[in-house]
Amino acid sequence: MVVELANRVLETLEKNGFEAFFVGGCVRDWLLHRPVHDIDICTNAHPGDVMRLFPDHVPTGLKHGTVSVKMEKQLFEVTTYRTEGKYEDYRRPVDVQFVSELRLDLERRDFTINAMAMDRNRLLQDPFDGSADLSSRLIRAVGNASERFQEDALRLLRGVRFAAQLGFSIEAETLLAMKETAPLLSHIAVERVREELNKIISSTGVELGCRLLCDTRLLAFSPRLEGLFSQTGEQAWRLSQLVTAAQKWSLLMYAAEYTHAEAKDVCTYLRMSNRETDMIVCFVRLLGQLSVEWDRPRHVDWGLLLLAEGWEVCQELEVLLQACWSKHGAVHSAQSLAMVYEQMPVKKVKDLAVSGLDLQSALQKKPGEWIMRVLKVLLVKAALHGLPNTPEALIEFAKKEVADNEY
Ligand code: ATP
Ligand code: MG
Repeated sequence: MVVELANRVLETLEKNGFEAFFVGGCVRDWLLHRPVHDIDICTNAHPGDVMRLFPDHVPTGLKHGTVSVKMEKQLFEVTTYRTEGKYEDYRRPVDVQFVSELRLDLERRDFTINAMAMDRNRLLQDPFDGSADLSSRLIRAVGNASERFQEDALRLLRGVRFAAQLGFSIEAETLLAMKETAPLLSHIAVERVREELNKIISSTGVELGCRLLCDTRLLAFSPRLEGLFSQTGEQAWRLSQLVTAAQKWSLLMYAAEYTHAEAKDVCTYLRMSNRETDMIVCFVRLLGQLSVEWDRPRHVDWGLLLLAEGWEVCQELEVLLQACWSKHGAVHSAQSLAMVYEQMPVKKVKDLAVSGLDLQSALQKKPGEWIMRVLKVLLVKAALHGLPNTPEALIEFAKKEVADNEY
């Protein structure tokens, strides 16, 4: 269906005298019978022509020759054949030149497997033998690898990422050039580095990805980051049992024995969102608190953890614990988290049959910190130790608690 719509884009361009091809990742993934998530199109039509032929469009990146064309709500990026201008600071160029030949457009692409184009009739344009490299399962730079990495150092990480996603090896010369140009990665914006690392740790070949990161020393520019991948190689396989990026980063940081303060530093350095940072710091702290050891399941007192951290955090923590403990499949504990949660008659301070104000008037005390402290004690007693959740029982217990302790 989506392909049919994309075909119509190609057809329209051709009918108007232009060339148009599917290009890059979609061609690679079609040939590998992998799911295709976005279809990119290249053409010798200039952006002005593309916009004229497709009135329903978004001018996504006119400077780089890209117009997003809408076909029945589906967007396709249509990019004019281009070569890239001067590269500054080992990053992608600021300006590009439009060209009229497909080959020149393919030549600027990073790896041979990403430098193929296909027409509407599935005829392949493959001047750099990408399909041979697909068959040999190789990541090979287009042209001189060292020069290509010097033009744009992000390609270094992309290479490792494609190897990890596809389970491919990196061709010898390309690998050598990677090792030599590795320090250039320090010029790349940390957000882009983070996004590629996220893709590496989320790929099916994550172990291979981690090994390549170590072998190439791509992360040597940041010892804190490199430490995550060098000391944790052994645990890399566990990452595929985790769901979110936050869980994966947490496991890496715990495996590298980072404190939660060090974990926070890494998150800040990678400019993660506050939400993601908080989650990671929390998971690293909890794994440490529970003294989690690899493949040695232990009893977890979910009741207290649920009251202190909440249901959502505990649910994710359970997934993390499974990954830390399970050499072979899931670890089943008799008292599962869900069971403990369901059996708790109250789950939050708000669920208690008394409020802070009730306590204040029943105990005839001035408002202060003591209220929240007493409410928390009541919560633990009512949730886990059978204290009835009635105003009478709670107030009676609160009176005793305050009388027996310094409040
Ligand atoms: P995926 O979308 O699955 O991550 P992709 O190959 O489509 O993989 P994109 O980042 O979407 O990757 O880029 C589309 C195409 O643009 C690539 O296939 C490649 O041909 C080219 N490309 C992208 N980034 C670079 C780069 N830094 N240097 C050279 N070519 C690049
Ligand atoms: Mg893509």
